[in-house]
Amino acid sequence: EIADISLKDIDQLANSSFPLCMRHLFNRLREDHHLKHGGRMQLGLFLKGVGLRLEDALAFWRAEFSQKVGSERFEKEYAYTVRHNYGKEGKRTDYTPYSCQKIISFTPSVGDHHGCPYRHFSEDNLRAALSTMGIGGRAMDDVMDKVRNHHYQLACTLTFEAIHSSSCDTGINHPNQYFSQSRKLLS
Ligand code: SF4
Repeated sequence: EIADISLKDIDQLANSSFPLCMRHLFNRLREDHHLKHGGRMQLGLFLKGVGLRLEDALAFWRAEFSQKVGSERFEKEYAYTVRHNYGKEGKRTDYTPYSCQKIISFTPSVGDHHGCPYRHFSEDNLRAALSTMGIGGRAMDDVMDKVRNHHYQLACTLTFEAIHSSSCDTGINHPNQYFSQSRKLLS
C-alpha cells in the first residue's frame, strides 16, 4: 500500500529519500528542464511507484518541459509518455518501476542521465555527487571500495546506511525500496 505523495513535497522528498540515480535525474530535470527518453522513463516510473498521481505527474513534467520546449510541444510530444507510463495510452500496460538490476544494466550515451551512478559515473563525478549527499571520510572510502569491486548495489546500501545512520540488512535492490525504507526511518 503506497500513500500518495504531494507535488509540493517533491523537492524535499528528493533531497531526503531518493536514491542517487533518481536524485541525479531529478536535479538534471530541474536544471535543464529536459530529460531524454531513458531518463524520462526511469524517473517517471519511479515517481509513479512512490505515489505521484497521474495529474500531479503531468503537472510536474509540464512545469519543467514547457520552460524548454513550450507547453504546446509538451502536450504534443511528451504528455503521451507520461500517460503511457501510467497505462493510460497505447497497450494500457501498467508499467512497473525499474529495479536496480535493470538500471545497472543500461548503457547510457553522452547526454543521457539514466542508469546507476555507482556504475555509470566517473570516479570524480561520483565522489562529488556523494559529497553533496553528505558522504565523506571513512564512509566515502567504503562506498568507493564497493564500486571498484563492481558491487554497485552494496555501494548504494552503504550510502543509505551512512545517510540514515541505520543499518539496511536487506540491502538495496530497487530504487522504490530505497525510498520506502527511507520514509519509514525519517517519518
Ligand atoms: Fe539507483 Fe539501485 Fe543504483 Fe542505488 S543501486 S543508485 S537505487 S540503481
